[in-house]
Amino acid sequence: MRLIFFGPPGAGKGTQCAIVEQDFGIPALSTGDMLRQAVADNTALGQDAQNYMDSGKLVPDQLVINIIKERIQLADCHRGFILDGFPRTTAQAEALDVMLSDANIAVDRVISFSVDDEELVSRIVRRAQDAGINARSDDNENIFRKRMETYHAETKPVLDYYKEKELVTEIDGMAPIEDVSSEIAGLLKQTA
Ligand code: AMP
Repeated sequence: MRLIFFGPPGAGKGTQCAIVEQDFGIPALSTGDMLRQAVADNTALGQDAQNYMDSGKLVPDQLVINIIKERIQLADCHRGFILDGFPRTTAQAEALDVMLSDANIAVDRVISFSVDDEELVSRIVRRAQDAGINARSDDNENIFRKRMETYHAETKPVLDYYKEKELVTEIDGMAPIEDVSSEIAGLLKQTA
C-alpha cells in the first residue's frame, strides 16, 4: 500500500502517520524529519536545506526527490509506505510517478486533511509551547504563516494533480485524533 498524506503544516499528518505505521506495519517517510536530521547531523544536504527551512520556503525539488528515491528502495518499504510532506510541488509529484512506475508500482491513495488556517496557527503555537526548548525552529507564528503561504502557492496544486487521477479522499482534519484515525483505518481496509 503506497499512501500519501496530504495537507498543510500542522494538519495532523505526522500524528496519523505514526498510528498507521503501527497498525498497518508500513513505514512513514517524512521528508521534513529527514531534512531536520540532516541539519542536526550537519551533512552537506543539511547545510543546503537549512536556510530554506528556517525561512519557511521549500527546499529545491531535486534534493527531496533524491532523498525519497533512495529511501523507498530500502527493504522496509517493499510492502508499502506512507509519504508525509512529499510531494509538495507538481514537479515532485511527477518525479514520484516516474520512480514508482520504474518499479512497477503506483500511488494507491492520497488522503487529504482539510483544516482551517487560523486553527492551524493556534495548533502550531500550542505545539511549540508544549515542546518547550525542544520546539522546532520553524514552529513560530511568523515562519509558520510563511509556511502556510508556501503551502497555498506551491503545494495545494498537487492536490489537483491527484484529483485528476481520482486518487484523493478528503478527511476532516479538525475532528478529534481518534475519529480521524478510525476514518483512515476504515479507508485503508478498503484500499488494502
Ligand atoms: P515539514 O516537517 O513537513 O513541515 O517540513 C519542514 C520544512 O522542510 C518545510 O518547511 C520545507 O522547508 C522542508 N521540506 C519538507 N518536505 C519538503 C518537500 N517535499 N519539498 C520541499 N521542501 C520540503
